[in-house]
Amino acid sequence: MELWFTEKHTEDVKFSIQVDRQLYSSQSDFQRIDIFLSKEFGRFLTLDGYMMLTEKDEFIYHEMMVHVPMAVHPCVKKALVIGGGDGGTVRELARYQSIEHIDLVEIDEEVVSACRQYLQQTACGFDDERVHIYYEDGLKFVRRYENVYDLILVDSTDPFGPGEGLFTKEFYGNCYKALRADGIMVNQHESPFYPNDATAMQRAHKRIVESFPISRVYQAHIPTYPSGHWLFGFASKKYRPLEDQDIVRWKSMGIRTKYYNEQLHQGAFALPNYVEEMLEKVE
Ligand code: SAM
Repeated sequence: MELWFTEKHTEDVKFSIQVDRQLYSSQSDFQRIDIFLSKEFGRFLTLDGYMMLTEKDEFIYHEMMVHVPMAVHPCVKKALVIGGGDGGTVRELARYQSIEHIDLVEIDEEVVSACRQYLQQTACGFDDERVHIYYEDGLKFVRRYENVYDLILVDSTDPFGPGEGLFTKEFYGNCYKALRADGIMVNQHESPFYPNDATAMQRAHKRIVESFPISRVYQAHIPTYPSGHWLFGFASKKYRPLEDQDIVRWKSMGIRTKYYNEQLHQGAFALPNYVEEMLEKVE
């Protein structure tokens, strides 16, 4: 007998992984949560049937979300992660001794408890004593703060269901307000490849450009996300992602990475022409 997890990437494209067995399944107040075990990708988490992470390729997403801004900002002391209930983003942040305080705002407590039970590879990030978890809507949480964070990482689901509010103009404006005068925001920026994802990506980019003086987009190859071509947004009040990359400072911290390196940092901002054109259209 063969068991397969299948995600529809478009009406005409499906992506499937053969599954050994299902480890967890639950309907929370916000979404359906499933964790599977597979031979090729190890354990993987899906929410409402959409791939969130696999043990095999999560390092790409989490390293690119965290180390790019950390190699640019000279002194992050207080960081906020919005979403990220699997723990992978806080795991990477916690590797920096300079960070004093990490807040994580996750709408769904059940995602955190399921990952703590079945996905220790990422959930180990929660064990660091600098990590403080709040279970609430990130949209509402961020409204309350002004001039508090050096870094905000928006590690959300896609722009529908509970994640919808995290792609709005109001949300980006409030992130701007919650950041200090030299703060940086990085968000998962969807994919440029399939038309529906590309439209969501352009909409998010337009709103970020309207909210921040500096806004650039960078890319990574993530095999289990639709098309494998994924984008991140780098929005900032002061620092530029390429000109202000401090290679000497970053290397001196001795952080060993599997995907990120200083050349890749520069190269990730070199986008294909069709992506540049999509971004320019909304700038
Ligand atoms: N890397 C993933 C991706 O792009 O597929 C995202 C992973 S992480 C599991 C996304 C988390 O965002 C989920 O656990 C979800 O519950 C959380 N989330 C969605 N909407 C949210 C909101 N409005 N406030 C806080 N967390 C939210």
